[in-house]
Amino acid sequence: MKPTIALVGRPNVGKSTLFNRLTKTRDALVADQPGLTRDRHYGHGKVGEKPYLVIDTGGFEPVIDEGIMFEMAKQTLQAIDEADAIVFIVDGRNGLTPQDKMIANRLRQGDRPVWVAVNKIEGMNSAIMTAEFHEFGLGDPVAISASHGEGVRHLINEILEGF
Ligand code: GDP
Ligand code: MG
Repeated sequence: MKPTIALVGRPNVGKSTLFNRLTKTRDALVADQPGLTRDRHYGHGKVGEKPYLVIDTGGFEPVIDEGIMFEMAKQTLQAIDEADAIVFIVDGRNGLTPQDKMIANRLRQGDRPVWVAVNKIEGMNSAIMTAEFHEFGLGDPVAISASHGEGVRHLINEILEGF
């Protein structure tokens, strides 16, 4: 079985950078501007003999809707629906945000396996960087640097073990 892995998270956490690394392409749009990736984006990757499909998402569009501060973008919800596994990316340097918490709450309600990837940890202490993200209740967070590659192989291996 070729698993589909959805990359979700708020804008600017490094989803597209991780997508590029997992698919070895420069296809996804990476920019300093938050939320620049508007559409879902599909790419193929392989570790050893194990192929997988990755979906990059445009993150979560902020919507003010009767007290609900943020709503997941429809595209992201679709990607979650199509996925066999979800990588929930957070920014270790920024720390845990209310929007992260909202996304975590949504992901906990689903039935797909979720990996919390704490990104941008290059040059930092992984244990300290990941500590606060245990409170999501989504398992042990994995420390990665999407731009430098640290922890990415470990993450994808862990995910593919289940398929
Ligand atoms: P997206 O909005 O979640 O798709 O985030 P992007 O992949 O577009 O990245 C947003 C910004 O974070 C860009 O400036 C990236 O270069 C930067 N970034 C991504 N991964 C890392 C990382 O591992 N370390 C650092 N320091 N910056 C990163
Ligand atoms: Mg993006």
